[in-house]
Amino acid sequence: MTVKIDTDRVFNLIEQKHPSRVILNAPGGLLRQTMDLMRVVELKYGVQCVLVGDTCFGICDTVDKEVEKLGASLALHIGHNASVESVGDYTYLVDAKDDIKFESVVQKSIPLLSKYKRIGLATFSQHLDELEPVKKQLEGAGFEVYLGRENSLLLASQTFGCDFSTVFNNAEKVDAFCYLGQSEFHAVGVALATGKPTFLLDPYLEEMRDMKEEAAERQKRAVLGVYKALDARVFGVITGLKEGQMMVGRSKWITNRLQANGKKVIQLAMRDITPDRLAQYTQIEAFVQTACPRISIDGFTFSKPVLSIPQADALVGLLEGRDMKDFLHRPKWIELTVGQIPRKQVAS
Ligand code: SF4
Repeated sequence: MTVKIDTDRVFNLIEQKHPSRVILNAPGGLLRQTMDLMRVVELKYGVQCVLVGDTCFGICDTVDKEVEKLGASLALHIGHNASVESVGDYTYLVDAKDDIKFESVVQKSIPLLSKYKRIGLATFSQHLDELEPVKKQLEGAGFEVYLGRENSLLLASQTFGCDFSTVFNNAEKVDAFCYLGQSEFHAVGVALATGKPTFLLDPYLEEMRDMKEEAAERQKRAVLGVYKALDARVFGVITGLKEGQMMVGRSKWITNRLQANGKKVIQLAMRDITPDRLAQYTQIEAFVQTACPRISIDGFTFSKPVLSIPQADALVGLLEGRDMKDFLHRPKWIELTVGQIPRKQVAS
């Protein structure tokens, strides 16, 4: 039960690219392994490595723009693999895989799933290799099992916390989704976006958990946030500065719509959107942030409404006399700019 970084890929990249210096970033859970990797690279190749210590929650947190500033020529983004191998001018995605098996938890879940016939499977980066074995096991127990389709960013049945596009269309075919892993965060996202019963299959605790209550709670808070923002007169519209979630066009559109509906808007840009940072803007009554939607949907500690893109769409709809639809029910809550960062020619 270990998460292992694909060191062979790292070695191959270093041997091909002969970088002057390497920068790395990784999510909190992989920092120890990443620092071990840095030591190995420095000893094996004599190349300096720098760990970028800013927050790294997802594939949107690449640090391509920091490479030149730090005198490096290669960036390794650890732990968020996808269907693209590289982004920007210098950044390569490096897999980290968990070798835990799901056989036991699936066996225990089969009787609990018996009222469903058609099951959709989803997971995040680290358990992608387990999709096929779990599919076979469930099919062996008599279920019809559906995997999601790979697309230009995500691998088959892979989801991010904001992008469910691989499995979204399967919602019409299945009775329920099973999400492989321990991440309630990801499983709740599937439940909210698809509206289907969603169960987390946790291979560590060997238990199946229904995401119904967590999803209902977040849905309720998301709707409440929109209604609370409706009466605000002064809005802060925040563009995120992280390179994979920089929605400049969305921020402009939302600003225009709010202004057209009589709201005053102060536009802000920031890298990390936290209660502490927002507390100083006392004159602002509600915020819209076009960066990571989960900051709003899971952010229970803000003292004022902080709306995500789907919530802002719902707010604009209400202001313009339209009904509030099920605004979280969509394949993506943000159009990530990962993979769309323009490339310039870099000598290899
Ligand atoms: S924007 Fe999406 S990929 Fe990035 S941290 Fe948020 S949920 Fe994850």
